[in-house]
Amino acid sequence: TKANLVVIGGGFGGATAAKFLKLFLPSSSVTLIEPNETYYACPFSNLVIGGGRAMSAQAFTLDGLKAYGVDIIRARAETVDGAARTVTLSDDSTLPWDRLVMSPGIDMRWGALDGYDEAATEAMPHAWKAGAQTTLLRRQLEAMEDGGLVVMSAPAAPFRCPPGPYERASLIANYLKTHKPNSKLLVLDAKDSFSKQPLFEQAWAERYPDHLEWRGASDFGRVVRVDPEAMTVFTEFDEIQANVANIIPPQKAGAIADAAGVADQTGWCPIDGLAFESTLVHGIHVLGDATIAAPMPKSAFSANLQAKVCAAQIARLMAGREPQASVLANTCYSYIADDAAVSITGVYTNDGGALTSVDGAGGLSPMDGGPAVREAEAAQAAAWFRTITAEAFG
Ligand code: FAD
Repeated sequence: TKANLVVIGGGFGGATAAKFLKLFLPSSSVTLIEPNETYYACPFSNLVIGGGRAMSAQAFTLDGLKAYGVDIIRARAETVDGAARTVTLSDDSTLPWDRLVMSPGIDMRWGALDGYDEAATEAMPHAWKAGAQTTLLRRQLEAMEDGGLVVMSAPAAPFRCPPGPYERASLIANYLKTHKPNSKLLVLDAKDSFSKQPLFEQAWAERYPDHLEWRGASDFGRVVRVDPEAMTVFTEFDEIQANVANIIPPQKAGAIADAAGVADQTGWCPIDGLAFESTLVHGIHVLGDATIAAPMPKSAFSANLQAKVCAAQIARLMAGREPQASVLANTCYSYIADDAAVSITGVYTNDGGALTSVDGAGGLSPMDGGPAVREAEAAQAAAWFRTITAEAFG
């Protein structure tokens, strides 16, 4: 089959999809559209914020994909016409496609949290897209005087990387404990429960009892407004003065999903789980954080695996065959200190089109694992990062 396959977004989902489409359909043309020359990976960026990792270790390019025969266009996709099967780019060119794959990640819902707009991110970084925001939050923590209060606001689900705020909280607390022992992190949460909560709470009680406090929604933890000029964060109950404020706001699928008509009223993209094809626009496949794929979480692991499944199913569709069911999985590692990690694994099936968890499969790190177990998981996490980035960008 000779087809025009176009991929929007060169992150974990899109880069992997482009590579595997070309591997499975070598005589088709595969074009990857991505505006940024350098991709900064979010996984492990919390280690940068905690001071245990260089930002340069987060930087990847798409150059390695060229050797596979993927054509790369450095531009932004502006509009998608699902009926005409075209995509128009920021350089005003228009590309035709037979199948379109989109993995545009997330955008912030500016204003959903009163006072938190794009300008506010300079004073109160989200650092939920890696890059300049990550470096900014790190610099603010370094510049803060000992005795300061760091405030983090965590959003309601769904959002990118469910355990991410709590990994970050652990690593910020670790930095404060070792470098600014009179300082504290207050996590204000819009939820009452979160991913790997017992494992995190145990680690916090053991390691950071004086440096980390978490307040859930029932304890008036939900942030309702921020004032970036005054550096104040408001809950329904109090007004809190922060020295550093990390606001992780509510999110939605990357804007191109809405422009293409594949996002619904929730702001996320409904898909059929077999081939990750949009249920709203035929011929468009959506991957990664942009999708409604629960119980699969919005993770790089999920985006990468969904991309491989999607590429294999597109190869079947191009050959006139029906998509086939597969078994999927996800593991999210979270560091609780620079050399210690915990994990959660889920196993899923897409049989019949809906993604569901496979009962009795997967699991969590053991409670009371002890330092050797936590260190072994940190080594596994590092191996995972090397493997997934080599597969997506290598
Ligand atoms: P992205 O990787 O964000 O890629 C989207 C790409 O699309 C971007 O390069 C963007 O420039 C491009 N794009 C957007 N719009 C357009 C357009 N209109 N035209 C062209 N290109 C466009 N996941 C894990 O599995 N493990 C972890 O340990 C982990 N840790 C994390 C820690 C933090 C602090 C955060 C924030 C996230 C973490 N994640 C982790 C989650 C992971 O980063 C995301 O789930 C993953 O990046 C999703 O991949 P994606 O392809 O959907 O989106």
